[in-house]
Amino acid sequence: PELAATIDSLIRDVPDFPKPGVVFKDISLLLDDHAAFTAVVQALADAGRDDSGATVVDKVVGMEARGFILAAPVALALGVGFVPVRKPGKLPRATYAVSYALEYGEETLEMHADALAPGERVLLVDDVLATGGTAAATAELVTKGGGTAHALSVLLELSFLDGRAALDGLPLTALRTI
Ligand code: IMP
Repeated sequence: PELAATIDSLIRDVPDFPKPGVVFKDISLLLDDHAAFTAVVQALADAGRDDSGATVVDKVVGMEARGFILAAPVALALGVGFVPVRKPGKLPRATYAVSYALEYGEETLEMHADALAPGERVLLVDDVLATGGTAAATAELVTKGGGTAHALSVLLELSFLDGRAALDGLPLTALRTI
């Protein structure tokens, strides 16, 4: 409850960004606060630990771009490697790609084909779960890469967009749900 209040106090609603009608959740004040950032990273990392506190994942995958900011320190906190999932054409070596529908048009995400060893368990980390398209595509990339999606950990879940329903049963930890 204390962490939820901290998150609430440091997230700003920005109306009509990036386009009219969208209320953007801006997390930059939270990242700017060392104590809050630390607490958020630890709480996100808990989704990759068992009850005794032992790490139960082999990799942390973060989604471009704000997912990187949270996922990399989560990987360090868990003592495992970090894997970036990126927009098309950004990763330099051989990739897997997954495309998904947006409200208008389509988005594609890529992951290096050799990023995961067979059977590796992966924690997905992003800032915001909205429609769930990004998370579902990332989980599919993990499967294509030979890994197993263990759970998704997000700072903020926008429940009115029902992203949870797109996750096909992948366990979700949201530090805050609105
Ligand atoms: P989804 O694919 O619709 O679930 O959208 C989630 C992705 O869009 C995440 O990678 C977020 O970073 C980004 N996103 C969507 N809405 C917001 C927002 O209000 N604030 C910040 N990021 C958002």
